[in-house]
This record gives sequence, C-alpha cells and structure tokens, in this order.
Amino acid sequence: MEKREHKIFNHQMECMSRDERLQLQSERLVKTVRHEYDNVPMYRARMDEKGVRPEDIRSIEDLKYLPFMEKTDLRDQWPFGLLAVPKREIVRVHGSSGTTGHPIISGYTKNDLEVWSEMMARTLTAAGCGPDDIVHVSYGFGLFTGGFGAYQGADKIGAMVIPMSSGNTQRQIMMMKELGSTILCCTPSYATYLGETIREMGLDPNRDLKLKAGCFGAEPWTEEMRYHIEELLGIDACDIYGLTEICGPGVSFACLEKDGMHINEDHVIAEIINPATGEQLPYGQSGELVFTTITKEGTPMIRYRTHDICSLNPTPCACGRTTVRMTRITGRTDDMLIIRGVNVFPSQIESVLVNVDGVAPHYMLIVDRVNSSDTMEVQVEMTEEMFSDTVSHIEQVRRTITERIKSVVGISTNVKLVAPKSIPRSEGKAKRVIDNRKL
Ligand code: ADP
Ligand code: ZN
Repeated sequence: MEKREHKIFNHQMECMSRDERLQLQSERLVKTVRHEYDNVPMYRARMDEKGVRPEDIRSIEDLKYLPFMEKTDLRDQWPFGLLAVPKREIVRVHGSSGTTGHPIISGYTKNDLEVWSEMMARTLTAAGCGPDDIVHVSYGFGLFTGGFGAYQGADKIGAMVIPMSSGNTQRQIMMMKELGSTILCCTPSYATYLGETIREMGLDPNRDLKLKAGCFGAEPWTEEMRYHIEELLGIDACDIYGLTEICGPGVSFACLEKDGMHINEDHVIAEIINPATGEQLPYGQSGELVFTTITKEGTPMIRYRTHDICSLNPTPCACGRTTVRMTRITGRTDDMLIIRGVNVFPSQIESVLVNVDGVAPHYMLIVDRVNSSDTMEVQVEMTEEMFSDTVSHIEQVRRTITERIKSVVGISTNVKLVAPKSIPRSEGKAKRVIDNRKL
C-alpha cells in the first residue's frame, strides 16, 4: 500500500512526550480551576458544596475531585451566567441548535477564537490540507459552530476558503467543479447526499472534481458509512468531533490513518466515566466522554459531561502525533433507544444498512408503543434499480435486513423499504429517529 504523507500543523504541541504534556495539562488545569472559582459563582458554590478548594487541585491527578458540569447548567445560567470574564471581553457567541429544549450559548474571547482556529487548522492539516488547497465549507454559517470553525481553520492555514454554507446542492456542486474545491467540510449525511447528486448530474467525482479529502462530523456516523462516502466521492473521509460548549468542531480529529480522533490535549483534558456512577474509567473502556477546557477564557468548562459514548486510546499513532485518540462516537447516552428493555443505537442499524445491496443509507427509525409494548419500524430507501425490481426480490432484501438487524441488535423490528428520495434529506445534522412514545 502507498505510504501516506502525514502533515502536522503544530509539531511541538501535537507530538510532545506524554510526560511533558501531562505537566502542561496540570499547570493549565490549576490555573483554570482558580479562574473559574474566582469568577463563576455557580461553580464556586458547587465546589464549596463538595468541599473542594482551588488549592486542592495540584495536578491532573486531582481532576476526579472536581464537580461535573452539565448542559442544564448552561440553560440555567442563560445567557451569560457562566462567563468567567467581563462581558466586554467577549467578541463572539455561538450556540447549539437547541432542538431538544432551550438553546445554549457559549461566549468566546479573542484568544478563545484564536485557540479554536488553531484546533481547526490542525484538523484540516491532518486531512492533508495545506496553503494550496481550496476548502469548500458546506457546514452552515451562523450560530452553529460548523461553518465558522472550518472557515477559521482554513484561513489560519492560508488555504482558499469557499464559504458556501448549507443549501442549494446543485449550486454547491457547480462551484465545487468550476473552482476546483479540494477539501470538503460538511456533515457525513450531507456528504452522502452531495455524492449522490453529483452522480445524478452525470458527473464522475474522480474525473470532474478535484476533491481529495473531507472533514465530516457534527453527527454520529459509522466506519461503514465512511467507506461508502470514500467510494462515492473518491476521497479520504476523516472524522471530526466537537461541541459548542467546548469551542466547536476540532476538539478532536482523525488523521489519514483514520484510526480514532486525536484530541487537542494542550487545550482540553478528556476523561471517560461510568455514566451511572461518575467514576473514571481506564483507557480502552467505553463510557461517557467528559471534557475540561484548560485554555478557554470566556466560558471555561470543567468536567463537562458530553453524553457522547466512546473510549480513549493512548498508544502513539503512525502519523507521529502523541495525543490520546478517542474512538468513533457510538452514540449518545440520550440518543440511546430502549426498545422492550434492549439498548439500541441508531449507529447499529446504520452499520447493517450500509452493507446491504439495493438500499441507500438513508433511514428513519420510528418508535412507538402499541398495547404497552415498544415497536420499532426501520424505514430504509431503496435504490432506483431496486425500486423497479420484482416484488419477490424486494421482499427477499427486506427479510435479509430484518434478520441482520435482529442478529446485531437482538430485537425484532418491522423493516419497511420505501421509495427512493422519500426520506427527508438534511443539509446539516440528520434526523434519524422519531420516537412517538415521547409525544
Ligand atoms: P447540538 O447539541 O445542538 O447538537 P452541537 O452542534 O454543539 O450541538 O453538537 C455537538 C454534538 O454533536 C456532540 O456532543 C456529539 O453528540 C455530536 N457530534 C459532533 N461531532 C461528532 C462526530 N464526529 N461523531 C459523532 N457525533 C458527533
Ligand atoms: Zn494519527
């Protein structure tokens, strides 16, 4: 196999020895805790309640004594209660969609924006982006962090940015072709949609486009989906992770080895905890990801519970980076569906669907309760060819999917093959579940 050339944006910070990094993290943690205690009444009260004083925190080892922060804290302190600096030092706010309740916002100082840009520059560089590249940003620009994050990172590298934002897929493709975009930034579900539309327009990505890599994230996706996108667009597809509360995209990113996401550990400390007890879990064990920011000024987050599930891998990577890698997110504790007592993640269903010929990876899970028992319908789109195939062949595929889901997830579902393009497409984060039990 051809050997990959790994580009690294900040060699010093991304490749330092483990000991050096722990030292740096400890120093920055001590400062952050002091800053937070002195400036954020909510967190001071929480530390006081737990009997922890700022001077008790002397190194990263002491992190476990600190109280957690939660999304509800951001809501309760809406809008500016968690600011750790005077409001006039805040130069930008971003917010998360708030599809499940009250929106939340995060405030950035000039330096916070600088740090975030650096993280995104590292992210894009790891996917192969350099000053000669043309970065096509189809993440939305707005309160959502995706668009601005990708723009800032590309700008820091000195690449050319096309700030397309989301929407108007045909126009996106026209620009991509005419301007020769080389790096694509969008959600994985939109990358799939773009790939299909490119082909419908009679274009061949390998012949007509110059795309070489993509940074795809903001929503859960699977390894199977990665292969699918790489094939569809003829590119390297790299996972990118982040959340508004911590800064936005770029908290961690995959390099071209595509074996987990490197965490920007000079700016954040990651822990994995048991979501039920709050106890720290060792490397390799799967649990809830928790982040502590150690350079953020505006709204520092200490032991912020993300509800995202993954594990951490400390082994050095073939790319030369020494940072701890997090595995792909397998789901969110709050996305997990409990169907007749069995835990089901949409990603499990996706991994089955992507491997079945005749269906497209566009699906919707419809959960309901009938006669006090949970039901789940899996709606999945057929490809055009499948749609015009015989009824008996369609039924055969439907049965195969039902059996595979049963063997992966352990429950019986009602699989329904639907017409091509009948499941709504998303320009941002895909919606995969309709849970009627919650209505
Ligand atoms: P919202 O909570 O409204 O979705 P954000 O845009 O801040 O707000 O989204 C952050 C969340 O998106 C993360 O906590 C995680 O659940 C999800 N996410 C982001 N990137 C990825 C990724 N690469 N893989 C899986 N999930 C991701
Ligand atoms: Zn790597």
